[in-house]
Amino acid sequence: MTDTDTDISESRVALVSGGSRGIGRAAVLRLAQDGYDVSFCYQSNELAAKELENEVADLGVRTLAVKADVADGDSVRAFIAETEQALGSIDVAVTSAGITRDNPLLMMPDEDWHQVIDVNLDGVYNVCRSVIFEMMKRKSGSIINISSVAGVYGNATQTNYAASKAGIIGFSRSLAKEVGRYGIRANVVAPGFIETDMTAGLSDKLKKQALQSIPLRRLGRAEEVADLVSFLASDRGSYITGAVFQIDGGITL
Ligand code: NAP
Repeated sequence: MTDTDTDISESRVALVSGGSRGIGRAAVLRLAQDGYDVSFCYQSNELAAKELENEVADLGVRTLAVKADVADGDSVRAFIAETEQALGSIDVAVTSAGITRDNPLLMMPDEDWHQVIDVNLDGVYNVCRSVIFEMMKRKSGSIINISSVAGVYGNATQTNYAASKAGIIGFSRSLAKEVGRYGIRANVVAPGFIETDMTAGLSDKLKKQALQSIPLRRLGRAEEVADLVSFLASDRGSYITGAVFQIDGGITL
């Protein structure tokens, strides 16, 4: 936390799950550049979280990093409560925390199925469930859930991941229908291949194959996804809800 002089009631507050690395990190920085006070959670990477906290503080907004497991409802509720206490009511919620545990279904350990669903899908539920009441009371809010093109088209060896990401789309569209009348928007961003730690471990062969099927002939950057998040968070996206935005260099064409 930095600079407590700011009037909490005047500031806009954004919250990002899985903010310490990758797309979530880029979203934290972009929203801070947009002038939001930003809180974010991470699973275990305290060093990355601290570094980001300092970087955000340098941008002149307030920030808060909280260690919280999105799969655990109590942990998320504590994260949200801490955010509201420190920064004020949440205007924007971005759910980026996510994991992969790839395997053909035949070899899928039960544990990997459940872990991916728990983090990726329950994680979105836990965050949205915890912020929605305050947003309804204030009659405004923007929720941006990070899915994946795998959730739209499927992907071999990713039945668990694709199911969780398709679940996010159904969840978000239903939520958009439920809370639109309260001035709350809920949208989905579905990235293709983005250069982060998540894709860093892919084999060169797989990356080469992917590049050949991406019309733009490159992987995306986390900052490009964060630009879209920034747009959807802001009033520039004020008439958009229940939409799924693919940001994938054309890989699904
Ligand atoms: P990443 O670089 O691996 O970062 C994952 C982030 O999620 C980290 O901040 C990590 O925290 C956090 N996290 C993981 N499990 C968590 C948990 N249980 N509780 C709280 N935080 C947790 O991933 P990424 O590539 O940025 O992906 C971000 C989102 O985009 C994910 O939902 C992913 O499925 C989606 N996506 C990514 C791509 C891609 O190509 N990269 C494509 C489509 C969709 P720690 O730093 O503490 O580990």
